[in-house]
Amino acid sequence: MIVVLSKSISSHDKEMIRIYLKDRGFSLREQSFGDEAIFGASGKGVVDLRELGLLPGVERVAATSKPYELASRETKSEDTIVTVGASASQTGVKIGGSRITVIAGPCAVESREQIMETAAQVRESGAVMLRGGAYKPRTSPYAFQGLGLQGLEFMKAAGEANGMPIVTEVVSPELAVQMKDLTDMFQIGARNMQNFELLKKVGSLGKPVLLKRGPSSTIEEWLMAAEYLLASGTQDVVLCERGIRTFETYTRNTLDISAIPVVKGLSHLPVIVDPSHAVGIRAKVSPAALAAIAAGADGLTVEVHPRPDEALSDGPQSLYPEQFERLMRDIEALAPVVGKELLRTPKPQHAATVTVTAKSASQTANGEGPIAYCGESGAYAEQALMRAFGEEARRLQTASFPGIFDAVLDGSAAFGVVPVENSLAGSVHENYDLFLRYPDVAIVGELKLRIVHCLIGDEKANLDSITIVRSHPQGFAQCKEFLDKHPGWILEPTTTTATAVASIAREGAIKVAAIAGEAAARAHGLKVLRDGIETNPLNYTRFVIIARRVGDKEEPALRQGRVPPSLGSGKPNKASLVFSVSDEPGSLFACLKILSEKGINLSKLESRPIQGQPWEYLFYVDVSIPDTETVFDSTIAELKNKTRDFHFLGAYRAML
Ligand code: PEP
Ligand code: MN
Repeated sequence: MIVVLSKSISSHDKEMIRIYLKDRGFSLREQSFGDEAIFGASGKGVVDLRELGLLPGVERVAATSKPYELASRETKSEDTIVTVGASASQTGVKIGGSRITVIAGPCAVESREQIMETAAQVRESGAVMLRGGAYKPRTSPYAFQGLGLQGLEFMKAAGEANGMPIVTEVVSPELAVQMKDLTDMFQIGARNMQNFELLKKVGSLGKPVLLKRGPSSTIEEWLMAAEYLLASGTQDVVLCERGIRTFETYTRNTLDISAIPVVKGLSHLPVIVDPSHAVGIRAKVSPAALAAIAAGADGLTVEVHPRPDEALSDGPQSLYPEQFERLMRDIEALAPVVGKELLRTPKPQHAATVTVTAKSASQTANGEGPIAYCGESGAYAEQALMRAFGEEARRLQTASFPGIFDAVLDGSAAFGVVPVENSLAGSVHENYDLFLRYPDVAIVGELKLRIVHCLIGDEKANLDSITIVRSHPQGFAQCKEFLDKHPGWILEPTTTTATAVASIAREGAIKVAAIAGEAAARAHGLKVLRDGIETNPLNYTRFVIIARRVGDKEEPALRQGRVPPSLGSGKPNKASLVFSVSDEPGSLFACLKILSEKGINLSKLESRPIQGQPWEYLFYVDVSIPDTETVFDSTIAELKNKTRDFHFLGAYRAML
C-alpha cells in the first residue's frame, strides 16, 4: 500500500501517520517519488483505507492490486521521466515522455582509442548516451571479460569528450560502490535481473538504473526486480526489453515486442529496447529497432562498433557506423507517427554554442518567464510546448492568439508557441497576420506535431447519448468522414480544441462531446469515446516558437544564444519571410529568380489576398539559409529592393 503525503504536510502530521500505521502492523519506508513524498507500507496489517485517507496530511491512499507498488501505474499515473547525467553544468539526458532516446556504443570497451572513436561516431549520428561494458558477464570463462575499472575510466573520458552521459553494466554489489562516481547510469544485465543483493545495493546508491529483462523472466518478475530498485532508494529506473528465450533458433533471442505496450500499461517507468541482443544478427537489428519504436518504446540501446569484424565481443550483432546513421534517420522519420521526437545531440563543432544556449535557455525558460500558448491544459499547443521546453516548463495560458504575442512583448512570457500551418488544412492566416501586427516578435524555432483527434465525452456518455459536438473548426474539417456518419449531430465551434473539452468538464453533460487530443481528455478527467477519428492519418501541425526581437531585426535569436537547445543549435538554416510585390508582369518571378540564382531552396510559397486591397496579394515564403551567411544577407537585401512590403519573420533551425 502506498500513502501519498500532501506537499505541505507538517512533521507532526507525518509522525502521527507513521504511528497510526505502525500500530496497525505495517512496516514503513519513506520515499520521495517524483515531487511527492510517500510512505510505502508493507506487512500483514489491516487498516480502513477511508479512515487512513482522512488523516491530516494524507493526499491519497493507493492500495494496488499488483505485487509491485512503486513501479505500478496504479500508484503513479503519469509517465516517469528519468534524467541521466545531470550536474551543475549539464542538463542531462531525459528518457521517457514524448521523446525517443537512443543509447549507442560497443558491446565492450576494448581500448581507449576504440571507445573514443565509437563515441564520436555514434554522437555524430545523433545518439545522446554512450554504452559499453567494462565488466562483461560472458557465457564462457575463457572469453574476453572486459577491461574492468580501466575500461570504465576510458568510457568516462569518451563520454566527457563527447558530452554524452554513459551507461555500463555492474555485476556485483562491491563493484557498484567502486563504480558509483565513474558512471552516470548503472546497467543491470539480463543475467543479473534477479540478483536481489545486487538490486538492493545498486538501488540504494540513488543513481539511474537501466534494468534489462532476464532472458527467461516474465513481465511480472521483471517489474518485481524494478520494485527492488525503487524500494531501495532510486527513483530513476528505465526498463529494457532485450529479447527472451523461446524455442526459436534463427535469432539469438526473441524480441518480445508485445511486452512494450503491456509494460507501458502496467508501469509508469520508461521502457527502452535493445534490438542487438534480442536478434543477435546485424542485418536484423534495424528492422527490430524500428518495430520497437512503432510499438511505443521510449528509446533504444544499440551496439555499434567501428570495425565489427574485429570486435572482442558481440561483433556479429554490432552495427557498422553507417548502418547506425541510417537507422537514426529512419527513426527520425518514424517518430512523428508515434507522436514523439527523436532526441539529438547537437553537432560537436558547435559545442561552444551549445553550452551557452543550454544555460541561457534554462535561465530564460525558468528564470525570466513562462512559455505562452493559447488554450486549455491538454491543448495540442501545450504538447508542442512540452516537446520544445520539457514537461516541467512553466506555462502561461492565453485566451486568444494575440494574447501570446502580447505576453511575449510585455515580457510576461519568455517564449510563445503558435500554430501556423496544418498539413491538411493549410496556413493559419490569423496567426500570419499577427506577425505583421507585431513586428517586434520573431520566429526562433519550429516544431511539427502529429495530430490524432479523439471524440471525448463524460464518463457516462456514449455515441448514442451525443447530440452536440464542439471543437475548433479545423477539428471538424479534419474529422469530416467520421462526422458525416453522424449527420444528426450539431457542431458548435470553439476557439481551440482543448477549450471544447474544458467546457464539457465544466458542464458534465452526457449529450455533448468534443473533438480534441487524448491529452486534453486526460487533463480534464474525461473519457475517450473514439480514438483516431481524423480522416487522414498524415495530419501534422507546424508550430513556431516566438520571442521578442532583440537587436537587429534580422539577427536570429539562435545566434544570440536565446533559444533552448531542443530547438536546434548551430547556425540557423531556415528563414520565414512575408512580402508583397508590385502589380506588374514578372514582379514575383524577379524575386524567385534572385533565390534561384543564389541556389536558395524554397520550401514554402503561398499567396493570400491582402485585406482591404482587392486583387493584391501577400506571399508567405520559407527559404533555406545557405552555409555562407554573406550570400544569404545579400539575397535578403536584393529581395527587399524588389518587393513592396517586406517582413523578415525570423531565422531558425528547421525540424524534419
Ligand atoms: C550488454 O548490454 O552488453 C549485455 C550483456 O546485455 P544483456 O545483459 O541483455 O545480455
Ligand atoms: Mn553485447
